[in-house]
Amino acid sequence: MNTKYLLTPGPVELPAEVLRAGARPLIGHRCPAFSELFTSIEKMLQELLKSEGPVIILPSSGTGALECMAVNFLEKGDKFISISCGVFGNRFREIALRTGAEGINIDVEFGESVTPKIAADAVKNNPGCKVLMITHNETSTAVVNPIKEIIAAIPEKDRPLIFVDGVSSVGAMECFPQEWGIDVLGTASQKGLLTPPGLGLVWLSEKAWKALDGKICPSYSYDLKLHKKELEAKSPANPFTPPVSLYYALEAALSEILERGTDIWFNSHRKYADALAAGLEAMGFDLLAKNKEARSSGVTAFKYPGGDTEAVRKKLRAMGIETAGGQGKLKGILIRVAHYNNWGWPELCIILGSLYGAAGMAQTLKKDFLAEAWNVWNKED
Ligand SMILES: *Cc1c(COP(=O)(O)O)cnc(C)c1O
Repeated sequence: MNTKYLLTPGPVELPAEVLRAGARPLIGHRCPAFSELFTSIEKMLQELLKSEGPVIILPSSGTGALECMAVNFLEKGDKFISISCGVFGNRFREIALRTGAEGINIDVEFGESVTPKIAADAVKNNPGCKVLMITHNETSTAVVNPIKEIIAAIPEKDRPLIFVDGVSSVGAMECFPQEWGIDVLGTASQKGLLTPPGLGLVWLSEKAWKALDGKICPSYSYDLKLHKKELEAKSPANPFTPPVSLYYALEAALSEILERGTDIWFNSHRKYADALAAGLEAMGFDLLAKNKEARSSGVTAFKYPGGDTEAVRKKLRAMGIETAGGQGKLKGILIRVAHYNNWGWPELCIILGSLYGAAGMAQTLKKDFLAEAWNVWNKED
C-alpha cells in the first residue's frame, strides 16, 4: 500500500502548491531570475524569523546545518556546553565534538524540557565556554524547550554564543532569534518549512558574525562567510550550484505560511496538537511529555501501555499511514506523529480513527475520544 498520509516528523506531507513549484523548469543559478528567487526567499525568511541579516541556505539536511554551525565556530581548545533532552540534542553534541572542542554535557530526562534554571546554572558553573548549544524542539521526545526564557535567564555579560537547533521548530512555532538573543540558529527545509528535504538553513546574530572575523573555516562548502559574501553581492547568488528546484518549493511554502499569517498559523498548530493529545489520552495512550507546557505543537509522541507499539505502527502502515517510532532508548516503545502542515479537524479524525482501529481499542475504551478531541478543537480562543 502506498503512503497516503505521511506523519513522520520530517519529511512531512506537503501542500500541492509546494510540490508543483518544485517541478518548474530549471533556471541557471547565475542569472537574474535566480537572484530574484533568492532575494524573495530571504525576505520571507526574515519576516518569518522577525530577524534581520542573511539566512544562509546550504544544500544539506538539518544535520548539515548543525555541522556548519559547529565547524565555523568551534575548534580544538574551545569548550562548549551542551544541554540535551533527547536524541537530537545528543547528536548536536556529537557533531560539535568532532571539531576537537571539549564538551560539557548537561542531560535532561527524555520527555522533559530544559528549564531556564538548568541553563543559567550550567553557564554560571562553567565559565569560559564559547558556545552553549540547545535544541528548540526535541523531535525524538516531542518536547519544546522555552528558548526565549532560557536565554533571558543567562546574564548577557556571561553569555556564550547561543547555538539553537531549530530544525523541527522553525516554520511551525514562534522562533524569533534576534528578539530572543539566539546567536546561531540552524534549521532545515523538510519539517516546519513544509518543503522537500535537502536544504539546511543557518541564521547568525551580529555578535556571531563578528566572532567569525579573521577565522578561516576548515570546510569550504560550509564556509558561512563565503556564503554571506555571495548572498550580499549585487546579484545575490550561492557560491556553488544550489538545488534550484528546492528553492522554488521553499518560496511557495513560505508564501503559503506568510499569507495565512504567522500568528494564525502557529496557533492552528497548537490547537491541533492539543486536540490530538486530548483524543489520544481519551483512548488510553500516554503522552511522553507529561507537562502540557512542554508539548510540541509540531509533533506528538506517545506510548501504548500494555500493547505492542510496533505492531500498531505496522497496522497503520497497512492502512497507508506512515508514522515514526521511538529513537535511541525509546526505540520500540513510542509512536510519533507530525502535524506541521495545515491539517484540520477532518485529518485529525482520520488519524485518531485509524489509531483506534490499529490499536484494537474497541473493547477497552471508556471515553469517547472523538468528543474529547472535539471539545478541545472547538474551544473558543
Ligand atoms: C530532523 C532533526 C535533525 C536532523 O535533521 P536531518 O535533516 O535528518 O539531518 C536535527 N535536529 C532536530 C531537532 C531534528 O528534528
